Amino acid sequence: MANEPKDGYDRVEEAGTFQMLWDCKYCGTKKLLGVTHKFCPSCGAAQDTNARYFPSDEEAIAVEDHEYTGADKKCGNCGTANAAKAEFCTQCGSPMKDAKTVALRSEQVAGVAGFTSDSKATAKADFEAQKSGVPQTPAEPPKSNKKWYYIGGGIAAGVVLLLTLVFMSRSVEVKIDSHVWEKTVKIEAFKARAQSSWCDQMPFDATFAIHKQEVRSYNKVADGESCTMARVDKGNGTFKKEKRCSTKYKDVPVYGDKCYYRVNRWGHERDIKATGGLAQPPVWPQVFIRAGNCLGCEREAGRSETYTLNMTEVKKPDKKHSCSYSEAQWRSIPDGAIKKLKVRIVGGAKCDTLG
Ligand SMILES: [Zn+2]
Ligand SMILES: [Zn+2]
Repeated sequence: MANEPKDGYDRVEEAGTFQMLWDCKYCGTKKLLGVTHKFCPSCGAAQDTNARYFPSDEEAIAVEDHEYTGADKKCGNCGTANAAKAEFCTQCGSPMKDAKTVALRSEQVAGVAGFTSDSKATAKADFEAQKSGVPQTPAEPPKSNKKWYYIGGGIAAGVVLLLTLVFMSRSVEVKIDSHVWEKTVKIEAFKARAQSSWCDQMPFDATFAIHKQEVRSYNKVADGESCTMARVDKGNGTFKKEKRCSTKYKDVPVYGDKCYYRVNRWGHERDIKATGGLAQPPVWPQVFIRAGNCLGCEREAGRSETYTLNMTEVKKPDKKHSCSYSEAQWRSIPDGAIKKLKVRIVGGAKCDTLG
């Protein structure tokens, strides 16, 4: 019989159909067979479908060529379980047209090694749990998953703690010690530069190439599979065993030609700076460069300026802070002024809180 594909598995292999067991509640006979013993061979009582349980692997009795017509139905008159195709109850003769299907045991999942023991008592607990909507024997997640729950939880707690520390701050009084302005001109130079890339992407004007084999990408390659066994109650006194497997993959490196070469390119060379205090008017530094496109020629690549206030905490003079502002705001605060500033618990001033 073909299996319908099961979500999340690459392969499902049928591992046989076996008889469920049941215990007679009237005379106490145990381990009666779900298919063979529709009635108790000792006292004649009808099989109680709610007492069906899974046998241990050693006790499991295979069912060969047993026609499956569906889960048993329970007679509405006397409660006896009948085969799905029965038109009249074998016990009392009532019509079975509107009879309901017997309750099914929850699916059991285990590692390939085997299953824990099952019993009439477990069956009872299972059915009660099904009624209350709580799964009684949940498929156990692989152990590695549990480990990741803990690690994930730990990381989450750490992140929350860190964020709290980052956002917590205290308000302190600071004294303005000094004003510093700095004006910077970035200079680029046209030079031979050492670079590397995959050889098929090497620039046409590169020279002195050497190449090496290096890992360029990874291929996912099938590497065995991980499997679980499941027992599924078919409702007619039998259950089927299924081996459910997922393919495991490993990364196999793919090598490529990596080229190391020199190529003439513009790149950051140096910064020319001018700096001063409140007393010196801020001016751009003088820029002397050899302009052009020659090897060794230079060009400007942007200008920037900062206006920084250096501060000391009034109560803790060893704690210093530096903040940059617009030139206008920087000029509006004199040296020696006392101001309020928020400072993070983990350190670092919240510069926009100065006031
Ligand atoms: Zn009995
Ligand atoms: Zn009946």
